Amino acid sequence: MTHSLLDLPALTAEDVARIDRKVAALLDTEQDVVIMQGEALLPLEACIRAGAPRGSHALNIVTGPYGQTFGDWLRDCGATVHDLAVPFHAAVTAEAVRDALAAHPEIGFVSLVHAEAATGNTNPVAAIGDVVREHGALFYLDAVASVGAEPVRPDAWGVDMCVIGAQKAMGGPAGVSAVAVSARAWERFAANPDAPRASYLSLLDWKARWIDGGRRTLMFAPAQLEMLALEACLDRIAADGLDAVMARHARAAGAARAGALALGGGIEPFVYEAGAAAPVATTLRVTGGLDASEVVAEALALDPSVPLIAGGGALAKEMIRVNHYGTDATREAVLASLEALGGALERLGAPGVKTASARAAVAETWPGE
Ligand SMILES: *Cc1c(COP(=O)(O)O)cnc(C)c1O
Repeated sequence: MTHSLLDLPALTAEDVARIDRKVAALLDTEQDVVIMQGEALLPLEACIRAGAPRGSHALNIVTGPYGQTFGDWLRDCGATVHDLAVPFHAAVTAEAVRDALAAHPEIGFVSLVHAEAATGNTNPVAAIGDVVREHGALFYLDAVASVGAEPVRPDAWGVDMCVIGAQKAMGGPAGVSAVAVSARAWERFAANPDAPRASYLSLLDWKARWIDGGRRTLMFAPAQLEMLALEACLDRIAADGLDAVMARHARAAGAARAGALALGGGIEPFVYEAGAAAPVATTLRVTGGLDASEVVAEALALDPSVPLIAGGGALAKEMIRVNHYGTDATREAVLASLEALGGALERLGAPGVKTASARAAVAETWPGE
């Protein structure tokens, strides 16, 4: 029997516990998984409110706009924040993190964004995890833009709070998110008198009422649509194979970068080193006096289906994002994006546009099946 969207049966605790287990399997984690009914910013904020007590010190690694938001939350919690800002065209190194921790032994919390869809870079989490563990700080990771596109291994990397969302490389629903919480993190949350309790932001409520109760009693009526869509998305990834899904993203990024390098017209990869470029999205810099927003508008006028968007905020004039994630992590989407960009650049009078060369570079980097 099929159900319409309006007569879905209520989810049971067993259903939710099963979806929790599927998230844990995706992350290959033994840690406690909490699925939260809200966008990823909900668990991201919840972890900071619980994990960064008043008077504590935090290292906030800023490689894009989300890092700036986390710094604001940390300061709002009364923590002293040491920002480690890295130019948006690069990744942070484990050495830089080691130096920052050595300079401030009092740091007890480290926040990092794994991959930044907004700036197109990805950071070496495994190596940074070693440094953070040695120091003894809690390690907070925003893996929203990396999960599904590249390996995310909270247990292997010593991540204490690993937040994911389904709407990027997982190709799943927005509006539902999850966090894996380590035993160490739960202890620190419990010891923080300012950690939210009896609040929508409270992870300790989840621990007390859901996890410690053996996931047998629901705290509220789960949002069926989002939860079932999340489960369908997890099942699809399991059926396709996580490795195959990640490989598709890696190929899309490689092809987009090669195509952009061949395209000319003043377009170049925004992230200098290919190794620091995120598999989830490829960012491009627009030079030669053109405005990136105008190039994107022109490209979308030529082909409204392409996953192109101008950079956010201050980056809107200079950056184009090719969002080749989820169902757009395909050769076709990358090719169509480069063709639309080539057409747009020509229309706007950019010199030296070589769309055929871009097409050839994609074909060479990602041969058709
Ligand atoms: C998209 C994204 C988010 C925000 O996810 P929402 O579910 O929209 O809140 C957070 N962090 C990163 C790195 C992202 O790419």
